[in-house]
Amino acid sequence: MSRLWSAIVAGLSPYVPGEQPQRAGLVKLNTNENPYPPSPAVAEAIRAAMGDAGDALRLYPDPSSSALCAAIAAREQLAPEQVFVGNGSDEVLAFVFQGLLAHARPLRFPDVTYSFYPTWCGLYGIAFETVPLADDFTLRVDDYAGGGPVIVPNPNAPTGRALGRAEVARLAMANADWPVVIDEAYVEFGAESAVPLIAAHPNLLVVRTLSKSHALAGLRVGYALGQAPLIEALVRLKDSFNSYPLDRLAQAGAIAALRDQAWFARSRDAVVASRERLCAELAALGFEVLPSQANFVFARHPAHAGAALARALRERAIVVRHFAKPRIDPWLRITVGTPQQCAALVAAARAIVGA
Ligand code: PMP
Repeated sequence: MSRLWSAIVAGLSPYVPGEQPQRAGLVKLNTNENPYPPSPAVAEAIRAAMGDAGDALRLYPDPSSSALCAAIAAREQLAPEQVFVGNGSDEVLAFVFQGLLAHARPLRFPDVTYSFYPTWCGLYGIAFETVPLADDFTLRVDDYAGGGPVIVPNPNAPTGRALGRAEVARLAMANADWPVVIDEAYVEFGAESAVPLIAAHPNLLVVRTLSKSHALAGLRVGYALGQAPLIEALVRLKDSFNSYPLDRLAQAGAIAALRDQAWFARSRDAVVASRERLCAELAALGFEVLPSQANFVFARHPAHAGAALARALRERAIVVRHFAKPRIDPWLRITVGTPQQCAALVAAARAIVGA
């Protein structure tokens, strides 16, 4: 606390991201990064975008990232004015909360979900209500009847469970007069995207990221897709906040990553194959594992507390995410790594649970 702070700062509850350990040699399965490198075309494009001896860095980047918006629009079969890009989907979501989710009715999202949502509500003074997931952590669309703004991740985090497209359409229709935002940070690992619903649902906004699917968490590129009036709201906010949220290198690298569809598909397929194997191996050790459509799995062991398991894994140089929160305290969220990383996790878990 400092008397130099504005009143709003004192009241904030900042989000705490997963640890980025500095110690080398850890098996890092705690922040859902892609275990494989991005397409080699990304580094090439970034070098080219710098120009000779970095000369191009003298100049500001394209403030509206038009080439990147066009590349995303082409991939999703949308028009460029249906695309908004930002510095990671966290920044896009921050604009979405301020620009589209602050309304007279409280915002609704699941009780177990991405824990940044309440933080943005706090930042922007948005009233919210959490809607409990079922006991098995499935999301019941019928619980979102009644009308009001909604945000849900699909697949949900940290559970990995996903809604089908027809269910998302029902959610959008049940709240047709309000923005319904689907946070598809993990959708490309196996869930159905809501993007094909955009044409028929003017209230639907889909938020995506290149952090996980395209192995670019370090480049910070996220985007939103929706009908033009929703996108215009985000552009108006961005242009009242920071003209250049995406630097030259991020714009060039993101375009190169999106062009290399074959690289994306190969690494996605490898992650999905490892996920299925990891689920089976953890189940064989006595873990309860939720079915996952994401690049992480959510698991608990009936005989071991979540915090103790996370600690014991850490002692064996393996970092996973544990949330000391109601309902999910027994559970661990484990990012799907390479086959070698998953094997190390399973071997350590076997040693700890004595199976
Ligand atoms: N949405 C969800 C559900 C997430 O788990 C994350 C990653 N923490 C994000 C959005 C943000 O990802 P990024 O800012 O890297 O695009």
